[in-house]
Amino acid sequence: MIKKNYEDIKNEIGEAVNLIAVTKYHTVDEAMEAYEAGIRHFGENRVEGFLEKRQALPEDAEIHFIGTLQSRKVKEVITHLNYLHSLDRESIAKKIEQYSAHAVKCFLQVNVSGESSKHGLAPEDVPDFLERMKSYEKVEVIGLMTMAPDTDDATQIEGVFQRLAELRDSLAEVNGDNVQIDELSMGMSNDYTLAVKHGATYVRIGSKLMGSR
Ligand SMILES: *Cc1c(COP(=O)(O)O)cnc(C)c1O
Repeated sequence: MIKKNYEDIKNEIGEAVNLIAVTKYHTVDEAMEAYEAGIRHFGENRVEGFLEKRQALPEDAEIHFIGTLQSRKVKEVITHLNYLHSLDRESIAKKIEQYSAHAVKCFLQVNVSGESSKHGLAPEDVPDFLERMKSYEKVEVIGLMTMAPDTDDATQIEGVFQRLAELRDSLAEVNGDNVQIDELSMGMSNDYTLAVKHGATYVRIGSKLMGSR
């Protein structure tokens, strides 16, 4: 079933877009099934699940940390942390700098929709924040991440994805050293086709790929 879902989604998004299988509600066996179907990017949003999947999956599987990471927990995941999608506070950068032996690829989480329930920086605060990131060598900022608003209104969702893409384009002057904003992490089960239409380079898909819980 996962294999079939994977083939269908791959056909829709094309080869150029990276598919992250979000396994946060699924077992290690199910994650292994996804690995055997050919998936190499996995997403987890809690420290426990992240460590569990890291231990169980082969080395060439990349486990992305996609949820909010409290700065006091950075230390627990740092040796295995290769991709963080939720950088939005300097305190996290400080901890990465303090504990990491390697550069961590980070997406800056942006709250494009402005909903108070959502994490992330306001778009207007992004340029200053990126300038500050330049003093943290272990923090390699590679792109922007956002969550679409909780609505069925495709126009509204597309507006958010489009604004993230425009923000990325506007940041070319900020780029340098450890900051190079190219990637866009956006799109989940209900809206990934819209995200791809607006230039997503990483989509994060749970239920549509792994089955709903
Ligand atoms: C759970 C989760 C997803 C996947 O959600 P689905 O709707 O199941 O595809 C994607 N991104 C983040 C940050 C998540 O927490």
